[in-house]
Amino acid sequence: MMMRRSKNCSVEIKSESDTLSPKERLLRILNFRRVDRPAVIGIIQSVTAEIMDALGIYYKDAYSNAEKMAKLASTSWEILGLEAIGIPFCQTVEVEVFGVEVYWGREKTNIPTVISYKNCLTPEGIQIPENFLEKGRVPIVLDAIEMLAESYDDIPIIGHIIGPFSLAAHLANMEKILRMSIKRPKLVEEFTMLGVDVLAEYANAMFERGADVVVVANMFASVDILGVRGYIRYAQPFDKKLIKKIKGPVILHICGDGTRIINNMIKTGARCISIDSKTDAGYAVRLSRGRAVIMGNINTVYTLTFGKIRDVIAETKKAVENGIDIIAPECSLSPDTPNSNIRAMVETVKRMSYLDNFD
Ligand SMILES: [Zn+2]
Repeated sequence: MMMRRSKNCSVEIKSESDTLSPKERLLRILNFRRVDRPAVIGIIQSVTAEIMDALGIYYKDAYSNAEKMAKLASTSWEILGLEAIGIPFCQTVEVEVFGVEVYWGREKTNIPTVISYKNCLTPEGIQIPENFLEKGRVPIVLDAIEMLAESYDDIPIIGHIIGPFSLAAHLANMEKILRMSIKRPKLVEEFTMLGVDVLAEYANAMFERGADVVVVANMFASVDILGVRGYIRYAQPFDKKLIKKIKGPVILHICGDGTRIINNMIKTGARCISIDSKTDAGYAVRLSRGRAVIMGNINTVYTLTFGKIRDVIAETKKAVENGIDIIAPECSLSPDTPNSNIRAMVETVKRMSYLDNFD
């Protein structure tokens, strides 16, 4: 067998005070049902250099072998105690199939990124790759999801895809998209529409292979880049179209301060909104009540990577007190994040209980 079943693993599935397994808890939260305490999971990349060095499995190994991808991803639960396992680790899988070159970095522990954009001037002529699910690293991701789903009954498996605006930004070049949005706004919409169907197909394949939840990570749709009006015109309608086509619960992640677009993010139909540390969490929770669940929003740089354990504990408590139901880093974790800080976030959440209100 590829890896130990979670029931035999070193991390206890239920601590003494827990009444639900991580999978039951997360799915109940996403269905607006009562739970014993918040869930605590990662968003997108949750692997550390410490872990990669210990296992001798690095991103490049994981992306060329489904078993290694599953093994590396499972450490978010097995070693760090995060209550979900998510793949892949970066946002380059889809864009590579469209012909964008991937940069693997100088160090083995660098998160893969893109070397340059496609610089396409118009959407015409951009071919949607046929048989997308069989291209590039997509089959490895899907095989790894299936392996994880078969190995873990009680831990939710999460698939990550890129959002349509972020795909468009990779194809056309972000700067050009911004210029285009002033002079030829319709063209930006056409660019963004381009990826909707194929991204939905990819997300649905993840569910078919055993994923419990899909994250749509639309990092370039940030208000910090697009502004509020830009998000509402160029990203939100396409996130909504995509999410409507996806046959399972979706977490929508957008980087940056989302305070002013939370309502529009909720209107996409995403079951859960993953927010940045700059976002007003209390406001997001109040606004979303009964319509979506809020996830986040522990700062990844100052707190999780460079902070002390006491900083992590304080910020995690604040997030729980703000009413966030799924505690998580605000964004992808830097591989340089110490394991001890991630564990501190997990342990802090585990000690906080809603048991008094539990049916
Ligand atoms: Zn982000």
